[in-house]
Formats: sequence, structure tokens, C-alpha cells
Amino acid sequence: MNARIKSPAGTAVSYASRPDDHVVDRTVSCSRCDAVCCRLTVVLLPADDVPAQFVGHDERGLRVMARGADGWCSALDHERMCCGIYEQRPSICRKFAMGSAYCRDERAKYMFEPAKGIPLRVI
Ligand code: SF4
Ligand code: SF4
Repeated sequence: MNARIKSPAGTAVSYASRPDDHVVDRTVSCSRCDAVCCRLTVVLLPADDVPAQFVGHDERGLRVMARGADGWCSALDHERMCCGIYEQRPSICRKFAMGSAYCRDERAKYMFEPAKGIPLRVI
């Protein structure tokens, strides 16, 4: 698989570039996370059909999920800290695996950088 996934600062990366991504931590659960992966840049693919009000463009003109001033994706349900358009979420979000290397990286990063945003609960 060589799909672009959620990436910091709009940098496209590949699942194939992470040799440890097949290692999944089964103790990690989205239900006990403040959706920290939803602060990453999500590049939209042609087949994605997300509501127009949640679509923006990055500095290169690529269609991306828009983000709010707090840094989270504009489609996030802030009350439940989960995706507010789950059935219509972009393909990149569908591929972002709970407990994967990228997931663990984001959780670790935000756990130790609380000043970047609102206080996070990454249990
Ligand atoms: S960072 Fe991982 S655990 Fe947290 S919401 Fe995203 S996929 Fe789920
Ligand atoms: S579309 Fe949903 S899953 Fe994807 S980043 Fe936005 S809130 Fe998170």
C-alpha cells in the first residue's frame, strides 16, 4: 500500500515508509483519546465526498480538511471528541489505524506538548 495518510504540516508520507506500522498496540483506544490524529493535515483524494463546509486548501492548493483555530479538523465533534462525519470521513482517515505507529506517535507527541493546544486526555 502506498496511500498518503494524515501527515504533519501537509507532508505526504506513505504507509510503506514505516516498517513498524504493522505493529498495533491493542491497548490503545479512540474512546480514551482526544482525537489527536484529527489535528494532522488530511489531504483529500478525488473519491472523497466530504461536506463542502469542511473542505479547505493548503499552501500548495491541495484540497484538505479545514481546521479550526484550535488546530482540530473542522469536522470534529468537540463534545464527544470524535469524527462528526464518520460515515463520510475521507479515505485517509479510514486508513489511519488505531494503535498503529502513527497513532502512537501522535499520542506521545501531544501528551508531552500540552502547550500546543487545549489540555488533552491521552490515556
Ligand atoms: S490518535 Fe489513535 S487513538 Fe487517538 S483518535 Fe486517532 S486513531 Fe484513535
Ligand atoms: S474527517 Fe473526521 S476522522 Fe478525519 S480528521 Fe476530520 S474529524 Fe478526524
